[in-house]
Amino acid sequence: MTTTEISTTTIAHWVAGTDFPGASGRYAPVTNPATGAVTGDVALAGVDDTRAAVDAARAAFPAWRDTSLAKRTAIMFAFREILNARRDELAEILTAEHGKVHSDALGEVMRGQEVVEFACGMNHLLKGGMSENVSTMVDVSSIRQPLGPVAIISPFNFPAMVPLWFFPLAIMAGNTVVLKPSEKDPSASLWIARALAEAGLPEGVFNVVQGDKTAVDELLVNPGIKAVSFVGSTPIAEYVYRTGTAHGKRVQALGGAKNHAIVLPDADLDLAADAMVNAGFGSAGERCMAVSALVAVGDIADELVAKIAERARGLVTGQGTGAADMGPLVTAAHRDKVASYIDAGEAAGATVVVDGRTVAPAAGPGTESIADGFWVGPTLLDDVRTDMSVYTDEIFGPVLSVLRVETYEEALALINDNPYGNGTAIFTADGGAARRFQNEVEVGMVGINVPIPVPTAFYSFGGWKASLFGDTHAYGTEGVHFFTRGKVVTTRWQDPANRGINLGFPQNV
Ligand code: NAD
Repeated sequence: MTTTEISTTTIAHWVAGTDFPGASGRYAPVTNPATGAVTGDVALAGVDDTRAAVDAARAAFPAWRDTSLAKRTAIMFAFREILNARRDELAEILTAEHGKVHSDALGEVMRGQEVVEFACGMNHLLKGGMSENVSTMVDVSSIRQPLGPVAIISPFNFPAMVPLWFFPLAIMAGNTVVLKPSEKDPSASLWIARALAEAGLPEGVFNVVQGDKTAVDELLVNPGIKAVSFVGSTPIAEYVYRTGTAHGKRVQALGGAKNHAIVLPDADLDLAADAMVNAGFGSAGERCMAVSALVAVGDIADELVAKIAERARGLVTGQGTGAADMGPLVTAAHRDKVASYIDAGEAAGATVVVDGRTVAPAAGPGTESIADGFWVGPTLLDDVRTDMSVYTDEIFGPVLSVLRVETYEEALALINDNPYGNGTAIFTADGGAARRFQNEVEVGMVGINVPIPVPTAFYSFGGWKASLFGDTHAYGTEGVHFFTRGKVVTTRWQDPANRGINLGFPQNV
């Protein structure tokens, strides 16, 4: 992937409030997934480039920590206004580098904006507590303070929303930030950095270092970084968690997923089919909360599969700038990997009801050729078994696998036996069954007739089992807790009544 010949568009770092070219001399091509054309080269930071970003965050920390809450809030409000007014610009960048369709890109920005809005009101959650007279003339107060410079390492599939899950809270709590975005779609991070600067954020509070494993590894060991928020695949999440914590850092590492939806026999099958299509094929399945395994309970499977197939065949796969429902996959390598999973499922005996390998994509407006885009259309596999790789592995593409079971108990066991535990959903009209499911399922985020149960900003986002390493979820109150640490102050004002020597342990009387 690494190139030495640089295109005219170089996507570099953002350090101490300005563009920073870096000195590594390493670059990787960035492509438009709908056309296959290289649209720029992203700089891949070396150790020294990464250290420069960490040093900028360290230098900015003392003044930012002491900046008033009122001023921090005003800046976050200003950033929210910029994001709200110019979200189309950011969405266009997402479509150009990730490939998702414009409406989906706008949705990504707006879900991220919700976290900014939560952060604007966050001062309420930074309040400590105070107790008077815990001992004679002694008071105790608790305060929450920032950690210092923190790192955010994000995946390709939400280049705006995932950073927005973390940095608004980190900044509002008084921390400074180094963001390491995915090298596959790096430009959104620079749009965000410029918007924050425009909103009045002092230089060095938010920095971007572009790159790959070299940059990540430096962030994990650099003593200047106090905490790491990571989102990506499970093996890398586990590596980040182990390495970061071994170097004394607080780490929350969100990993991959295999999200199941159970459809019970009493469900409205039309509504369930709509939900399966939306959640299985939206964003070409490149969502950590996408439904990839549909568990059909009882005798509804034939009818449900027919309804999903009918809807899936009607979807338009095409360039995100046009009127398509679903865009391309992010890279040629990922397209090939997704197609190879469909091949493997078919070879293992799954029934290919809708085949996305032969999709004819639709071009958006303009003259670009999309023949070299990274296309796989909606794919529906029936008769999938739990020993097939289409079931055991996270495919991260528009592939919905149907597993048939006889009972609710079988469906539940199947989900709870799966190593992942990010999201799940149940479709039923039976409130008792739904309540039982929410109680018994071992998954972090549960939808009841809601296929993609991403919590709103004032709750927290996080999976269980191999979908999260660490014990703190993203944003909401857990996010505030992650980006602050507690301090307790015990106070006694000098008073002659307290005179005298007593070497005994204080008894608080
Ligand atoms: P990825 O793990 O390949 O990359 C994530 C980040 O880690 C990127 O910034 C990348 O540059 C870096 N990275 C990659 N390989 C590395 C290595 N060997 N050492 C150190 N750093 C490395 O993930 P991706 O392909 O960008 O994103 C898709 C994955 O992210 C999927 O598994 C998806 O489920 C997961 N995801 C999870 C959530 C969640 O909330 N749990 C949200 C979004 C995406």
